[in-house]
Amino acid sequence: MGVYNRAPLEVERGQGARLWAADGTEYLDCVMGISTNALGHAHPALVQAVKDQAEKLWHVSNIFRIPGQEALADRLCETSFADVVFFTNSGTEAVECAIKTARKHFSAKGQPERIDIYGFDGSFHGRTYGAINAAANPSYTNGFGPPMEGFHQLTFGDHEALKAAIASPTTAAIIVEPVQGEGGCRAIPEVCLRGLRQLCDEHGVLIIFDEVQCGMGRTGKLWAHEWGGMTPDIMAIAKALGGGFPIGACLATTEAASGMVVGVHGSTFGGNPLAMAVGLAAFNEIASAATLNNVNEVAGYLKQQLSGLKDRYPDVIVEVRGKGLLMGVKLIPNNREFMGWARDEAQLLVAGGGDNLVRILPPLNLTLDEAREVVERFEKACEFARGKLVA
Ligand SMILES: *Cc1c(COP(=O)(O)O)cnc(C)c1O
Repeated sequence: MGVYNRAPLEVERGQGARLWAADGTEYLDCVMGISTNALGHAHPALVQAVKDQAEKLWHVSNIFRIPGQEALADRLCETSFADVVFFTNSGTEAVECAIKTARKHFSAKGQPERIDIYGFDGSFHGRTYGAINAAANPSYTNGFGPPMEGFHQLTFGDHEALKAAIASPTTAAIIVEPVQGEGGCRAIPEVCLRGLRQLCDEHGVLIIFDEVQCGMGRTGKLWAHEWGGMTPDIMAIAKALGGGFPIGACLATTEAASGMVVGVHGSTFGGNPLAMAVGLAAFNEIASAATLNNVNEVAGYLKQQLSGLKDRYPDVIVEVRGKGLLMGVKLIPNNREFMGWARDEAQLLVAGGGDNLVRILPPLNLTLDEAREVVERFEKACEFARGKLVA
C-alpha cells in the first residue's frame, strides 16, 4: 500500500552509527529506525543473541512458560515502578494494552462508568484504533469512521482543562508522552509531571505514560519520567526495547492491572522466545550505567554544539530542544527538504518531526568523535540550506 513517503535511498547494511546504501554510499545514521536501534546497527551482543536463540527455539505460544519472557519481565519490573508486564510486538499494541488495562481496572472495581481517556494535542501513540483516538490527530483519524466513544483531547499546557478532566467522575486515565517524539520533542516540565501525579491521586485517576519513543535510555535516564521524580500506573514501551527487533510491552502496577485476569487479553507472537532473547540482550546493554552516562555526555555536547550552530545560522535554525538524545532542531526551511539536503549533501540521516523539526536520534552508544562528525555534517547541511535560501 502506498502509505509511506520513502526517501530515495535503498538501504543495504549497517554497522554502529553507519548505514550503507545499495550504491555503496556511507551515511551517518541519526534516524536509527526512529529511535529504535538504540545500540546502533548490528550490535555484536544482539547479533549473538539472535543467532544463539535461532538455533534453540523461536516461537511457542503463551500457553507455555517462556523463561526468557520471565527474565525480561523481571528486569523491567526491577528497574521501574511496575509489578507486571504484558509483551507485544509493537508500540501501538502496547498502547492498546495500556488503555484496556485502565478501563478494565475500573470495570473490575465496580466503576464501569469510568471509561474516559484523555490525550494531548501533538501526541503520537501509534496507528491502531485506540491509539489514533487517544492522540486524535485529524490526519490519522480522518476517514476512519466516527471517533471512538470515551476519548478526549486536551491542549498541552492548559492546566484548567486538565484539572477538570481529572476531576470528572467518568475519567479512567490520562495518556501522555513525558517527552513527545513525533509531535516535536516537547518535554513536559518536571514540576508538571509531579503535579499531574498529585492531581490524579486525589481523584483516583490512572496515569498512562507512552514511553515508546522517550523511554529505554533515550533521555539519559532509563525512563523519561524519572526526571520528574514520579511514576505512572501504566506505561507503554517499545521501539528501543528490542534494539531493532519488534518488541513492545505494557508495564503496570499490580493495582492498575487488577482487571487483567486470565482470558481478557492476549497475543500470539508477543513475548516469544526469539524476541525475548534479543530484548534481554538489548536491555542489559541499554540499562547499563555506561550507556546512560554516555547519553548524558554526548547529548550535552550535541546540544551545546547545535546551539552554537543556531547562533551562526539564525537564518536556518530557530531552536534546539528535546531531552537527551531525543533532540529536535526547529528550522526555517521546510524540514522535509532539509532532510533531503542533509542526506544528499552531507550523508547525514535525520528524522522529521512535528513543528517543522528535524529530530537527531543517534544510537545511545554514539562516541564523542561520531558526535563531532554529526555536528560537522549538520553544519554542512545548514550551509547548503543557507545557499538555497539566498537563491
Ligand atoms: C512509534 C510510537 C508509537 C507506535 O509504535 P509502533 O511500534 O509504530 O506501533 C507509539 N507511541 C509513541 C510515542 C511512538 O513514538
